Amino acid sequence: GSVMEKVLQRRSLQMRNMQRAWLESPEGKKMLDFRKSLPAFQEKERLLQAIARNQVIVISGETGCGKTTQLPQYILESEIESGRGAFCSIICTQPRRISAMAVAERVSAERGEPLGETVGYKVRLEGVKGKNTHLLFCTSGILLRRLLSDRNLNGITHVFVDEIHERGMNEDFLLIVLKDLLPRRRDLRLILMSATLNAELFSNYFGGAPTIHIPGFTHPVKAHFLEDVLEMTGYNLTSFNQIDDYGQEKMWKTQRQLVPRKRKNQITALVESASVVACSPFWRNGFNHNYVVLLQDALHKSNFESYSSRQFCAIYVESNDHGAVLVFMTGWEDISCLRDQLKAHPLLGDPNRVLLLTCHGSMATSEQKLIFEKPPPNVRKIILATNMAEASITINDIVFVVDCGKAKETTYDALNNTPCLLPSWISQASARQRRGRAGRVQPGECYHLYPRCVYEAFAEYQLPELLRTPLNSLCLQIKSLLVGRIGDFLSAALQPPEPLAVQNAVDFLKMIGALDEKENLTNLGKYLSMLPVDPKLGKMLVMGVIFRCFDPILTVVSGLSVRDPFLLPQEKKDLAGAAKSRFSAKDYSDHMALVRAYEGWKDAEREGSAYEYCWRNFLSAQTLQAIHSLRKQFTFILKDAGLLNEDGGTNNKLSHNQAMVRAIICSGLFPGIASVVHRETSMSFKTMADGQVFLYANSVNARYQTISYPWLVFGEKVKVNTVFIRDSTGISDSILILFGGALSCGVQAGHMKMLEGYIDFFMDPSLAECYLKLKEELDKLLHK
Ligand code: ADP
Ligand code: MG
Repeated sequence: GSVMEKVLQRRSLQMRNMQRAWLESPEGKKMLDFRKSLPAFQEKERLLQAIARNQVIVISGETGCGKTTQLPQYILESEIESGRGAFCSIICTQPRRISAMAVAERVSAERGEPLGETVGYKVRLEGVKGKNTHLLFCTSGILLRRLLSDRNLNGITHVFVDEIHERGMNEDFLLIVLKDLLPRRRDLRLILMSATLNAELFSNYFGGAPTIHIPGFTHPVKAHFLEDVLEMTGYNLTSFNQIDDYGQEKMWKTQRQLVPRKRKNQITALVESASVVACSPFWRNGFNHNYVVLLQDALHKSNFESYSSRQFCAIYVESNDHGAVLVFMTGWEDISCLRDQLKAHPLLGDPNRVLLLTCHGSMATSEQKLIFEKPPPNVRKIILATNMAEASITINDIVFVVDCGKAKETTYDALNNTPCLLPSWISQASARQRRGRAGRVQPGECYHLYPRCVYEAFAEYQLPELLRTPLNSLCLQIKSLLVGRIGDFLSAALQPPEPLAVQNAVDFLKMIGALDEKENLTNLGKYLSMLPVDPKLGKMLVMGVIFRCFDPILTVVSGLSVRDPFLLPQEKKDLAGAAKSRFSAKDYSDHMALVRAYEGWKDAEREGSAYEYCWRNFLSAQTLQAIHSLRKQFTFILKDAGLLNEDGGTNNKLSHNQAMVRAIICSGLFPGIASVVHRETSMSFKTMADGQVFLYANSVNARYQTISYPWLVFGEKVKVNTVFIRDSTGISDSILILFGGALSCGVQAGHMKMLEGYIDFFMDPSLAECYLKLKEELDKLLHK
């Protein structure tokens, strides 16, 4: 012990000498001057004292005031200065890997050291740190995993949990675990950092921990909403009358009431288009104003026809206006699309005029640095960013912000690196935060690409991720990260979900075979936790892979996770229904109709007739596009998990076997089963839970007099006085026996034998053969 102590003491003295030398050097002095200019510096002594006296403190302050880069550094510096540098070990968590890396790099530079010396980082699959690293930036997921094996965090002296205002799932998990740890580690210090002023909530959670606010200053930012932007460009809302947007109904589910009816049609298409921002091939010269304008030209029928989920816009930059432009977009796909189109533009693509950069979760470090740098004179910096630039990264010279109003990146890397599925509306708090990015150095301007009435309909704050994530998925995530009972764990959360609902979710996960009787994650459960989709649909995907009919199942699952691409306009119900049933070819399946519609759309796209195709068949091109991109995401994840064969042919050997595809749909949607009751001239449907149910008007099965299957499987039911079932697929007895319920979640060997006996009686011969062949593989996956 004492030898070790001596070594550390010597090392501490070295650290102190090096630190002093840097602070006295010319560059070190310059850096220190900058650091002293940050608002956090004013509070330095108060902070150090509070941390010395309390086990937990909560700190809030405007983005950019110096929380992340300065506060952990203050502690590090003061420990080093007091000759105890080698004894301290500070961890600071970040919700995103990119910010962990960027911040570590920055703090190293502020200390005049290479990365990986005193300061390092660790994110999934990557890290730079050494034996002298005493301040480590890591993702919250990394710390969670560390807590799995090192329950007491031995050797760690300070933990910072950053960006807690975002209420990310990992942060909320971390707080549960750390709160439990504190009494066992009296010497450990916990510092929570947040951008907005909801410090009370966190303080109360930790028994009234002291809070400190770092006051900051920002310049006013003028907000422009869509109608203002359009006015500036010479358009007004009445120019859009001709847009037929009957397909947009669902998007307005929450906003509908707040939008005056007669204006709804005019702006819906615009708003949706604004959520997917891209650059226009058409460029309107001749407006004369000093703004950065994102100009929607989705408005023109002519462009609407060539529309393929990406809309067109242009950024107009008046060259004698100073300041960088920050564009908030939903995700990498949209960013790279807009970037390519901007690069091809004669004015905006000219590197002597525009420095075009992107900022998102997977950008290269070299690009990252450019974001913070000043562009050459007369060159305008334009940054296309995800909501990452909202709070965790600060770019000082932004004067113009363009906000598309949506965000996708709400789930974080560490939980298996799962991307979030679809862009959704942000909250008012996020919109304000985005706007605020424009006012750091001078008064700024913000362009919200949605009407004011939509902003007013946004939620005030975003729900914590823990309450936003569907419980089935949430429980699966917890199991993939932690040992112990899910219910006990969640009941200790800052804002816990309903215990009964949690229990239902756990029961459900057991039922589908993702958890075993003792609530342990099964092998199937591990795969399901990697898929960012409802576990039962995830299971359908996995089954689709195992039973070699991947492609159609991929379309079904993507379709069920997005929304129905078949439109049902009130005034054209009959036509639309007829159009849909053309895809059904007497196979009594909405799911297969969806597969055909999607495949037809792909063909039409290749031939350049996608627009007519959608129009003729009452299909939403946007939804099909979303299904398409989701298919890609799922494929990527399944490949990454090593589940999917590299050779596409193998995965699809049985894709043309209809019985097999039905069987897999059944395995995923069970227990959504209705029996088909035929009586002389009429037909009705019954489920165990509800008695009689009705088919949704747009179901292909609603158009038949008789259905030649005894059962329908369905994914969703809706109760409006009576119960309606939505999409359904006819299945045989044998499919239900073999793929519904117990078997599909893995059964005991005895049960298996019994089922084999049934096969001779019931099965379609082709199905039986495949089934027996693949059974072994299935068993391996489900039981191991
Ligand atoms: P907070 O965590 O409070 O949002 P930060 O500690 O991240 O603030 O940043 C404080 C200040 O440090 C920023 O306002 C910015 O001026 C500067 N800064 C942060 N990161 C960098 C960087 N990579 N390069 C240059 N300056 C930076
Ligand atoms: Mg920060």
